[in-house]
Amino acid sequence: MSTPCPTWGDSFQRLGLHWWHGNCPSPIIPDDSQQIFEGLLLGDGSIPSTSGGNNCVFRIPMINRRFLKWVDERLGVLTTGLSLKKTAEELAANNRRTGFSKR
Ligand SMILES: [Zn+2]
Repeated sequence: MSTPCPTWGDSFQRLGLHWWHGNCPSPIIPDDSQQIFEGLLLGDGSIPSTSGGNNCVFRIPMINRRFLKWVDERLGVLTTGLSLKKTAEELAANNRRTGFSKR
């Protein structure tokens, strides 16, 4: 399902990615989503100064996939989607499996 950008009307699968990398102004964030962002900023959330796009991006570096999926679903089109990193445990298991490290 794609969603039209309110600025020009072009549709995108992930409006968050479009807003991050595109030239359209940042969206107006609904109150309920803003409350989620504020709560996340009190925890692990951050807005890095050099986020790589034209607009700011919100990041939550954590390994709780269930929680991250919940946040992604709640924020809907505002997110850029999940970019899951491997935990230290998963990286170690991968290193052992591939022979990169025996420990
Ligand atoms: Zn746009």
